[in-house]
Amino acid sequence: MDFDLTDEQQMFQKLARDFADREIEPVAEQIELEDRIPEDMLAKMARVGLLGVTAPEDYGGLQMGFLTLVLVLEQIHYPCTPCTWLLAGNELAEVLEAAGTREQKDEFLPDVVEGKSLPGGVFTEAATGSYEDMITTTAKLENGRWILNGTKRFHTFGNVDGPAIIFARTGEKKTSAIIVPKNIEGYTSSKPWGLMGLRGLETVDTFIRNVSVPEGYLLGEKDGGLDILFKVTAGGRLRQAILSVACGQRALDEAVSYARERTTSRGPISKMQGIRWQFAEMASRIEASRWLTYRMSFLREQGKAVRSESAMAKLFAGQAAEWVASEALKIHGAYGYTTEYKIERVHRAALAQELIEGTNEIQKSIVGAAVVQD
Ligand SMILES: Cc1cc2nc3c(=O)[nH]c(=O)nc-3n(C[C@H](O)[C@H](O)[C@H](O)COP(=O)(O)OP(=O)(O)OC[C@H]3O[C@@H](n4cnc5c(N)ncnc54)[C@H](O)[C@@H]3O)c2cc1C
Repeated sequence: MDFDLTDEQQMFQKLARDFADREIEPVAEQIELEDRIPEDMLAKMARVGLLGVTAPEDYGGLQMGFLTLVLVLEQIHYPCTPCTWLLAGNELAEVLEAAGTREQKDEFLPDVVEGKSLPGGVFTEAATGSYEDMITTTAKLENGRWILNGTKRFHTFGNVDGPAIIFARTGEKKTSAIIVPKNIEGYTSSKPWGLMGLRGLETVDTFIRNVSVPEGYLLGEKDGGLDILFKVTAGGRLRQAILSVACGQRALDEAVSYARERTTSRGPISKMQGIRWQFAEMASRIEASRWLTYRMSFLREQGKAVRSESAMAKLFAGQAAEWVASEALKIHGAYGYTTEYKIERVHRAALAQELIEGTNEIQKSIVGAAVVQD
């Protein structure tokens, strides 16, 4: 059993960390205040290859495995900003690799890898949340074209040009996945939802009114949308898990640096046993989350389905990050509750992972079913 990362994986980890330190950390507060990611961020990420970590070399990608992508995401999310979501091209590359046609890859992947367009994917609707059988958006095949109608909710970057994967009904209890360019006639978006954390993440409602796309934009088989959704969400959960690891690590680092500086009549609070015990608990939970997520990502890279494994990683890492961030804030004393210190922003960012790609209860349902095997 070899737990070491390869030289290549360590190289990409360092590349991503350098990028985060150089390009994201200095603008993290600005993004928060302006509720906007700088316009040139996507192009900067494209220049160093971050948008196509898993995309095939033929399409300008780096053709690395899923675990390498996870290592990159961990570093990019260390500043705890929404910039991580600009790496959505990697998700599209994976879906197209699993279910896309040559024509779909030719048409959509190069622009995504070059940062000329930003993909999205939306399953959620006002009523669906956790229940895929409640989708109401429809797609009907008429004269060789799919005609889509419906309203989607919480579509991240649904308002930015690029291909979106839309999950829609193609029959009673049948769902298909269809690629819809976001700048097409009949496709409009609401203004972004105001978010309590990760400000700058543009998450909108998408209105789809008689949107017409070629028959060839169907992903995979007709009525096979849920199989694609389950594959996408298994990867998505591991992505959320590693973002939790990044937030937890950042929260711990902020708390340690504060505790070293905060001095009482008995010296810095970092010398106190009670504080050190807290750090020990925090570090242990983060390290356990990290290696659980790496392990499950490795399994995915090997081609395993990882449905319950990804749910387990997301559940554990999300809960750990929320707890670590909350404790880290308290170690800052009253200052933790002010906007002068980064910990309050990190804390708000850490909460998101327990909701996106399914709540903790949904992850528990999946893991529980796997444990009982029914
Ligand atoms: C910032 C952000 C970005 C997002 N981006 C996207 C995106 O790009 N694309 C997309 O499709 N979606 C996106 N989402 C949506 C997100 O994935 C869903 O909101 C999430 O899956 C939860 O759905 P819901 O809010 O409708 O919760 P609900 O399903 O309404 O759940 C409400 C509560 O009931 C609980 N619950 C539900 N069922 C059970 C059960 N069986 N047992 C016990 N408890 C239960 C839940 O755990 C939760 O606590 C985004 C959300 C956010 C916040």
